[in-house]
This record gives sequence, structure tokens and C-alpha cells, in this order.
Amino acid sequence: MAYTTLFLDLDDTLYPSTNGLWHAIGARMDDYMRARLNLPEDKISTLRKHYFLEYGTTLRGLQIHYQVDTEDFLDYVHDLPIEQIVSPDPELYELLSSIPLPIFIFTNANRKHATRVLDSLRIMDCITDIIDVTTMNYISKPNTHAYYTSLRIAGESNPRACVYLDDSVRNLVPAHELGFFTILVGSQVQNPSVRLSINRPHELKIVMPDLWNNHR
Ligand SMILES: [Mg+2]
Repeated sequence: MAYTTLFLDLDDTLYPSTNGLWHAIGARMDDYMRARLNLPEDKISTLRKHYFLEYGTTLRGLQIHYQVDTEDFLDYVHDLPIEQIVSPDPELYELLSSIPLPIFIFTNANRKHATRVLDSLRIMDCITDIIDVTTMNYISKPNTHAYYTSLRIAGESNPRACVYLDDSVRNLVPAHELGFFTILVGSQVQNPSVRLSINRPHELKIVMPDLWNNHR
């Protein structure tokens, strides 16, 4: 297959979930709901679960029900020492810089957070552009609109020419339905929407040699 475009999720895909960053962001979301919105302690986790299932993200739920200021929320939840949590990854840099295709970050986070993570990993030079929650007009993954936005930004009309890595099966499902080649990162799950499972993006070289050959 001739692939033209590579899409990469950010959090828990480009760095291992064991570093705790994603968990820390979740704790900041709880803090925000407690401190800024004065929501009762016993409601917070139920609401977050509900928003995640109903709207895709906590942010979208809070926008709809509490009219939160988006930038205020995103700045608050990402106010963490990312540079101390995410380490440089020269092996990942070498891998991504050798792929002869445009590489887009496709994330429900915002550009500011994505930039800090990519800078901490020292892989920013490998990235063509960042498709973030603002680019998606806050209709984020797994809403099908987000995937159409990603294709439009990448200038690729054929999803079958695209490879997409994410640590969330839920985010891979609509991508698979549209025709993307889907790769799950960080766990092994038997699911018809998952074409391949890998532990780390570093394994692409072994499992997807087509990314280096055959491109249009
Ligand atoms: Mg992720």
C-alpha cells in the first residue's frame, strides 16, 4: 500500500503512560472542577466519566454545561512541569526523521501543550503540523468530524493512504471505519478496528516497512 500521511496521537502515544503525565492532567481537571466551578467532590469523577462518554472530552462537557473559558481550562489542566516528566527521546527522533512522509500530531489537547511535549521529547523538527482541539473547533476525537478535519488539514482526501497511531481504541474506531490504517500503541487488544498493536511507536520500523517504501 502506498501511504502518504502519518497521524500521531500525542499523550500516552509518543511517551509511555508510565511517566504519569496523563494521570496528572486528569488530576488537574478534577482540581479545576473543584476550585473554579465549586462542584461537589462526590460528583466530579461521575461527571468526568459522563462527559468523556457523551462528548469525547471533559472540556466539551464543561463547555456545554458550564460555559467554561476554553483557554483558561486548558492552561489550568496543563500547568505541570512537563519538561521534568517527559524525557528527550533520541531514538524516536531518529525514527520519525527517517520517515519520508508528512507527520501530523492529531490530539484532543491544545497546541501549547502539544508543543511543550514535543519540545521535551526533542522531536518537534520531525512534525509537519499539529492538529489540536482548536483546529477541530472543539469537536474532538472520537467524533467523526475530527477525522475529516485531520484529512483536510493534511491535504489528503483518501483515508486509505493514512496511517494513524493512538493509545485509545475508542479513537481508532471511527478512523478504521473511514479507512485509515489503525495502529494501537501501548496495549494489545483484539478489536476489529485495530489493524496492528505495538508497545511503542519505535516499533513502526519493524511492523510498517511500507512507510519507508512505496510512497507516492
Ligand atoms: Mg492519547
